Order: sequence, then C-alpha cells, then structure tokens
Amino acid sequence: MSSEPSRGRFAPSPTGPLHLGNARTALLAWLAARSRRGSFVLRLEDLDGPRVRPGLEARILEELRWVGLDWDEGPDVGGPRGPYRQSERRERYDAALGRLRAAGPAYPCFCSRAEIQAASRAPHGAGDEGPRYPGTCRRLGPNAIEAGGRRAPAWRFRVPEGPLTFQDGIHGQCTVDVASEVGDFVVARADGVPAYQLAVVVDDAAMGIEEVVRGDDLLSSTARQILLYRALGLTAPRFAHVPLVIGDDGARLAKRHGAPSLGQLHQRGADPRAVMGLLAALSGLAKEGGQVRPRELLEGFSMSRVPARPVALKRELLRALLPVIPGG
Ligand code: GLU
Repeated sequence: MSSEPSRGRFAPSPTGPLHLGNARTALLAWLAARSRRGSFVLRLEDLDGPRVRPGLEARILEELRWVGLDWDEGPDVGGPRGPYRQSERRERYDAALGRLRAAGPAYPCFCSRAEIQAASRAPHGAGDEGPRYPGTCRRLGPNAIEAGGRRAPAWRFRVPEGPLTFQDGIHGQCTVDVASEVGDFVVARADGVPAYQLAVVVDDAAMGIEEVVRGDDLLSSTARQILLYRALGLTAPRFAHVPLVIGDDGARLAKRHGAPSLGQLHQRGADPRAVMGLLAALSGLAKEGGQVRPRELLEGFSMSRVPARPVALKRELLRALLPVIPGG
C-alpha cells in the first residue's frame, strides 16, 4: 500500500444515537486516514428532514470525541470545503442535478411507488430502492412529459447496461450489474430533496475525499455512486466497506441485544479506552479485553487486518464495559 497521505471522512446521519457498529466504522475510517497522515472530515448527513432528531448532532460529536477521535474539518470546526452539513449544501446538489439533466442521463419520472410495484416483475427482489425500476418513464416524449407535468417528477439516472467492477479495501473485487439489479435509480425526489446517492457523490468529490470507509450495508450503493462520478466527470475515491457488528444470535446488533449506545456507555461510566479496546478486538487490531486509545492503534494499521465477515459481539464482553454500579 502506498503511504501517500489520504483524506478520509465519517458521515453520520443524525437520525439515531451512535451505536457500537457506527463507532467501529468511525474508528476504522479515522485509522485509515490518520495512519497515512491524512486529514479527516466529519460531515453530517441531515437531508432526511423528518428523521433528523434535533440535538443529536451535538451528542454524536461529543461521543466521537469521548472515544478519542478527532477531525480537521466538520460542522463545529468549519474548514475550507464546508459547509459540513448536507442541509446547507442544497445548491450544490441542485447544480449537479442540472448537469445530469443537461447532459442527458437524468430524466423525469412521474411514476408513483404503487405503479412501480405493479409494473415490476420481481417485486420481491427489492433492494434499498424498492423493486427494480422497470423504466416506464425512460422514453417519455415531450408531450408525455408535459402531460405528466401536472405533478412534480422525481429524477432518475439512466443506468448503462452491463456489469461494473470495483475494488473494495475489505471485500476485494466486487461486480454489480446496476441495470439489472436496481435499474434507473432516483437522484432527486419529487419534493426536490436530493437522493443520498447524489448528495454523497457531490460531497465526497467536493471535499476531496480519497478513501471512503463506511458500513457494508452501503456496499450495494457503491456501483451506483461510481456511475454518478463518471457521469459528472469526477474521480471516484477508493472504498472500504466495514462488516456489520452482529449480536450473538447472528442478527445485526440492535437494542434487543441489550447493546447500549455510545452515549449510554458514557453516561453509565464506561471507560472509553475499554470501548475502543473492544472495537479494536472486533476489528482484528487488538486482543480481547484490552484498553486502548485510537492513536495507539495507528502503528501497523492496515485495512487488510479487518475481517470481511460480520463480527459477533459477545454479551459478556459488552457487560465487561460497564462498571458495577453499587446497589445498581
Ligand atoms: N450517512 C450514512 C449513514 O449514517 C453514511 C453514508 C456514507 O458513509 O456514505 O449510514
């Protein structure tokens, strides 16, 4: 691996408190950038208005600092490539959509969710976008567009046929056929809100991000994003998708496993070095049961040490994080 500095980022959505899986992703993103003397950017992905919870941004920042992570640019510290909240960057997404419309790949779509469901032959093969879009509005002529113009359209990206291959820092070579798996995907909703896929590409490019480290629930989005980078004439970053943390029943770590959020661990007196020790152990970077600060993991860090399969968090390790509260 080259030791050129590499700019990285962590991009939480303020829709729920940080849990241990998010903290592990943040730690690995931070290590990837800092181990190569790169800067680290914190970006708040707060476009999903109704799901954004007021006050959560400050708590997310506080908990990340509590475990020993830092950033050079972000919503609280500013920086030359801000603003660092997506809600303050709308004109950039609108400009990118304008370019996609002018150049041809973005087209208006008047279909309702129910129409797409009904027209799709594989409603159960649905991914995060819902069923594969059957292309109903792909060839609408100007008359049909005018007729449909009574309601505001969503905007879809015309996906080229054929598979796309990219290298992932953890999963290796990945091949996705976006046209057959997802179809033409939404880049802006009918209410004008840009889709995550578009916003993340515009931002990672504008913020000069060279390596994107994020949860592997987003691995399936990456091919769509690479298509957008190409269509906008932008260079795609490198990607590394961190596997999920699961409970001892094999399901994605959730409240019912009794897994506290980072904030709850903080409030209940956990030692942040023990929390980081646990996350480092889950990532193949340290032995179980140790205490560590993120900066102590920098030497010898390599993404190749991180297992590509989901890692299970044993209940007793979780319990060991919390001090025994007298009478509690
Ligand atoms: N905002 C997304 C999330 O919190 C992450 C997006 C990304 O890293 O590309 O899940």
